[in-house]
Amino acid sequence: MSKTTKSIWVFADYRNYFQNRVTLQLLAKANDLAPALDAEVCAVVFGCEVEEYVAEYIAHGAQKVLVAEDASLRHYSVEKYTVLMEKLARDYRPEIILIGATSFGREFAPRVAKRLGTGLTADCIGLEINADGNLLQIAPSFGGNLIAEILTPDHRPQMATVRPGTFQEIPHDNALQGEVIRLPLPRKLARDRLRVVAYERQPERVQKLEEARVVVCGGRGMASRSKFKKLFELAQLLSGETGATRPVVHAGWADEGALVGQAGKNIKPQILFSFGISGAIQHTAALTDADFIIAVNKNPNATMMKMADVAVVADANQVCAALIKGLKERIQSKSAYSD
Ligand SMILES: Cc1cc2nc3c(=O)[nH]c(=O)nc-3n(C[C@H](O)[C@H](O)[C@H](O)COP(=O)(O)OP(=O)(O)OC[C@H]3O[C@@H](n4cnc5c(N)ncnc54)[C@H](O)[C@@H]3O)c2cc1C
Repeated sequence: MSKTTKSIWVFADYRNYFQNRVTLQLLAKANDLAPALDAEVCAVVFGCEVEEYVAEYIAHGAQKVLVAEDASLRHYSVEKYTVLMEKLARDYRPEIILIGATSFGREFAPRVAKRLGTGLTADCIGLEINADGNLLQIAPSFGGNLIAEILTPDHRPQMATVRPGTFQEIPHDNALQGEVIRLPLPRKLARDRLRVVAYERQPERVQKLEEARVVVCGGRGMASRSKFKKLFELAQLLSGETGATRPVVHAGWADEGALVGQAGKNIKPQILFSFGISGAIQHTAALTDADFIIAVNKNPNATMMKMADVAVVADANQVCAALIKGLKERIQSKSAYSD
């Protein structure tokens, strides 16, 4: 690959290939931006046995794929990947690097930006090339109350992260051609300070939280992991999904994928149950498309209660338990009737 041709890089977050397809969405956006810069679109893949991904990226619009392949890169390692990305960016000088705002991308992108001494805009909802040929990075700010337009005019690369689902991917096209460039590994890759003992895939969600028609969301008011678990049962009985606030995710009662809010997912359910949630702007910014909200809180003055269509002043655990009991009885009586 010529080091003088302008290029837009997309970091290949292929853990999400079967899930949110953010890499493919970023390749599509990079293809949108490329003509204005006369740039080529390049996917950057680190890993081991990545052939099928490389082919997939070409079929989704990557004109070049830079591949660093080694057994030591099989699993995501923020330290190794940062060292590699920094070295490649210094060698090849891309104009733009786009990274998915996944849990890994959020950890990885700021480290790369810091090492390269450049800016980074997180969670962009729009990307354009302005009249000066700079990347206009459009991102929500102040809990979604403002939309900021951010430029990085003096430093390169221009870096942005984008949440899964923000852009549409280009349909898979086997006729597309791309060049694959295999990179030699630097002699010294960073040694991980973390020792990975095992990998375990979390159970797949039945449906995407962002698309669920019923969402049962819980906050710190649920009081403990075992009590929070009851919300999963309630969501299942309602054929819905479970969401959580940040303190809940930090406490490990729910996984990162359940986070609803500025740092997590936007949801648009027909019915949202909100248990023991105060209603901080960083959480409620993601609820503006919810049709009907039922909030349960001990405090009638909580913001969440004011936002709700139905506000129940009660203990969240008791209401949750009563709903589960009532729904189970209903299901049982229905099946007894049909027997
Ligand atoms: C940059 C930034 C980004 C952030 N991003 C997010 C985000 O994406 N998502 C997010 O959720 N937060 C986010 N936060 C955190 C946010 O500001 C709040 O701290 C968080 O949403 C509060 O969570 P909570 O409502 O569960 O907890 P709390 O604010 O502690 O509220 C607990 C509620 O439970 C009620 N309660 C207590 N006991 C009971 C009971 N037995 N029964 C019923 N009710 C009870 C209380 O009255 C209270 O209203 C972010 C913060 C920052 C600074």
